[in-house]
Amino acid sequence: KLGNETLKAELGRAAWKVLHTTMARFPDKPTQDESDALKDYLYLFARLYPCGECAEHFQGILKKYPPQTSSRSSAAAWACFVHNLVNERKGKPIFDCANIGDFYDCGCADDEKEAIS
Ligand code: FAD
Repeated sequence: KLGNETLKAELGRAAWKVLHTTMARFPDKPTQDESDALKDYLYLFARLYPCGECAEHFQGILKKYPPQTSSRSSAAAWACFVHNLVNERKGKPIFDCANIGDFYDCGCADDEKEAIS
């Protein structure tokens, strides 16, 4: 367990960034295999998250609100919603999920160009 609040917050910011950016890059129309992969990834992420107290709490959230992985927009909305549950618990401001659209850009546009050409 990470005892230091600063490190815990730094880890959290990095982890949320990866999570939301993954959703922003997830296909609009995923295959069954892609949907299953994201679901598995999220359950494993919750199980292996290095802050034990956080992992325990987040696993409880997943039980109550199973990951939505049928499209990019549903995955992004789900991640925003569960992050807000953590925000709420910590007394942090609630993020407006309507504004999630272009907020998470990985700078990976070049990948898409390569894939097309
Ligand atoms: P963060 O919450 O880290 O958010 C980073 C940035 O994301 C924000 O500045 C904002 O721009 C954006 N953002 C905020 N809300 C949303 C949203 N809903 N959707 C999309 N983007 C958003 N800490 C604990 O102390 N106890 C816990 O139990 C705990 N559980 C956690 C569980 C998980 C799975 C993760 C990833 C982190 C957890 N954390 C926990 C860490 C905590 O959520 C924060 O990351 C940490 O407190 C730093 O907060 P922050 O204010 O810098 O912003």
